[in-house]
Amino acid sequence: MMHHGQTVLVLRRLLARIRDVMASGGNTDGRLARIVAIIAKDMAAEVCSIYIRRAGDVLELFATQGLRAAAVRRTRLRVGEGLIGEIAAKQRPLALSEAQSHPSFAFRPETGEEIYHSLMGVPILRGGRVVGVLAVQNTSARQYTDEEIEALQTVAMVLAEMVASGIPVDQAQLLPAETVTATPTRLEGARLHSGLAFGVAVLHKPRFAIRKIVAEDTRIEHERLRHAVADMHGALDDMLRSTAVGGDGEHRDVLETYRMIAEDVGWLRRIGEAINTGLTAEAAVQKVNDDIHARMSQVSDAYLRERVHDLEDLADRLLQHLIGAEPGSTALPADQDVILVARNLGPAQLLDYQRRRLRGVVLEEGSPNSHVAIVARALDIPIIGQVREAMSRIEHGDQLIVDAEHAQVLVRPSDDIRKLFIKSLKARDERRAAYAAIKDLPAVTLDGVRIGVHINAGLLIDLQHLAESDIDGVGLYRTEVPFMIRPELPDVESQRQIYQKVLEYAGPKPVIFRTLDVGGDKVMPYWPSAQEENPAMGWRAIRVSLDRPAMLRQQLQALIKAAVERDLWLMFPMLTDVSEFRYGRALLDKELARVRGRSGRSPRRVYVGAMLEVPALIYQLPELLGLVDFLSIGTNDLFQFIFASDRGNYQISERYDSLSPVALSILRTILQQCQAARVPVSICGEMAARPLDALALIGIGYRAISMSPPAVGPIKATIRGVRLATLEGYVASLCAGRQRSVREQLRAYALDHGVMF
Ligand code: PEP
Ligand code: MG
Repeated sequence: MMHHGQTVLVLRRLLARIRDVMASGGNTDGRLARIVAIIAKDMAAEVCSIYIRRAGDVLELFATQGLRAAAVRRTRLRVGEGLIGEIAAKQRPLALSEAQSHPSFAFRPETGEEIYHSLMGVPILRGGRVVGVLAVQNTSARQYTDEEIEALQTVAMVLAEMVASGIPVDQAQLLPAETVTATPTRLEGARLHSGLAFGVAVLHKPRFAIRKIVAEDTRIEHERLRHAVADMHGALDDMLRSTAVGGDGEHRDVLETYRMIAEDVGWLRRIGEAINTGLTAEAAVQKVNDDIHARMSQVSDAYLRERVHDLEDLADRLLQHLIGAEPGSTALPADQDVILVARNLGPAQLLDYQRRRLRGVVLEEGSPNSHVAIVARALDIPIIGQVREAMSRIEHGDQLIVDAEHAQVLVRPSDDIRKLFIKSLKARDERRAAYAAIKDLPAVTLDGVRIGVHINAGLLIDLQHLAESDIDGVGLYRTEVPFMIRPELPDVESQRQIYQKVLEYAGPKPVIFRTLDVGGDKVMPYWPSAQEENPAMGWRAIRVSLDRPAMLRQQLQALIKAAVERDLWLMFPMLTDVSEFRYGRALLDKELARVRGRSGRSPRRVYVGAMLEVPALIYQLPELLGLVDFLSIGTNDLFQFIFASDRGNYQISERYDSLSPVALSILRTILQQCQAARVPVSICGEMAARPLDALALIGIGYRAISMSPPAVGPIKATIRGVRLATLEGYVASLCAGRQRSVREQLRAYALDHGVMF
């Protein structure tokens, strides 16, 4: 076993020797053989083998020291098969003192490997793809240390660059034995922002050709790193100053947080340490990046994962400064619409690409709350996440259709499909134009009933829609969004500034602020994320606020101060019991008295509402309605609890329908009680954003709905095309039905009556 200093020295010598072999000419096979011999010797292993990935997902033994020479170019394992295949499939190192007792061990008699007990293997990774596997073996039952694994990963990185640049493996040998024609494929993922797009694929991870891996002089590399970091900081500041999105919305916070990560000491120190092992600055950046990615697959905390993505984004940026390449531009076709395909993206990278003709984004990772998704929504770029193996199944330059509506990517679609798609894209554009034409018209039904149309907002950029079209106000302002993208808990004053800006944007229109709804999947960077079995039903929203009253009081104070001399509308989320509302309201009254006492100023009027999201509250409506100024129904949560069906689980999302007689009857009961108690009620869940669902809501009798801004056009068009007199009777009959879903009936109704949806 080697200690740290020793490993660094051994590694440095090893890298220098590999460099010499590479520089020495001779045929490729000979050079490869020498390289494995050197690695085996320096790593004190009896065996060292290199497997290279060939087309068809086969890993072929290309060179070995220690295994039988006859096995070279003969032994093949599929990705996922045997230990070598497992390393490739999982993209993770494996170190076993008793390899043969591992369940995945696949014996290959031609190799003569039965005498070796221990095995350590690492993936040879390039641009997020496995291009091979490097493994060493020992006859003894050796326990490989973490440092040895790291060392082997560094060597693998050097090999990755060699493979990519054609030395010592001839590119021709990487070609598939049989020609694989590129057939159309369909990949599925999760919708992060809806829309349709068409364009050519650009694989992000511009393949930086790192030509020099092993350093001549470590001091010079440290110096180069220092300069590149300084340049990168300068460039980031420039970009922040002139970002294409402009304005001062919270997306700017996303970027500023990112800028802070660029100064992460730990990250820069790790790169420095990698340089100490003998790598060039660029190779060191790449190495640390690969490590981070390998480790990332084990991290479950959403915020940490986000940070890791930001770091990867920065690593790319740093590489650009070190190698002097233009950020991905060489790879981007100048005059074509582009679909960006990436493992993941940082928010700033999206802005970089956005200046070109970016039409859609496909990510292998990505979640609805990821920074890139927030920025994409603000820019209205369709984006699909969780597309498995997108990077290996899509080639640079492939034609792609991004159908975020159905969370699918069509790769190399046939001509027919493409034509159909272009047609529907056109129809969509026409529809958009039609929506644009009515955006200033009121949301009034054919028989003259006005429906309140509000928007759900969380970023300042969302509020622009208020000015751009005839919208009644903000039905739900999710205050947690600014909290989620800041590096620390905003104090009263910075909260006040945010809320005041929101109110200024809104002008005379009402904004309903919802108090913090954190917990569950909404993670704040500075908030300890508790490990909960069922976070959606866990410590979240009002439950957190009531257990941490100081935080809620600060928020209430900020809201009160922001709304001085104006009307203040606010509501509490996830109420389960009336007592929770009473308690929240009592806190509010205290804060109101305090602010008034100190400054003599206060909001003109304060309206306090309850969100109905937990079924238990339905049975307390008689009491609750006597206490509240208004009610807002969050159907996302309400239905997930009524149907016991996780709102974020794509596998069951089609199983229960919000357009079922059960769901509609529940909504009708709630409405009737509100009407009897003369309490205004509205719907702010996603349901209100889907035209057919909205049709049902209006048919039941709801007169105020709130939705994400892009839905305003379609919903208005629906409202303006419907006659309530007939719709109401029809929906009442549907409520009495017994089917699982009445969606198709409603669709038929809309078609028959010429309602646009
Ligand atoms: C809801 O649950 O329907 C809602 C509007 O709140 P959120 O989506 O923020 O949980
Ligand atoms: Mg909710």
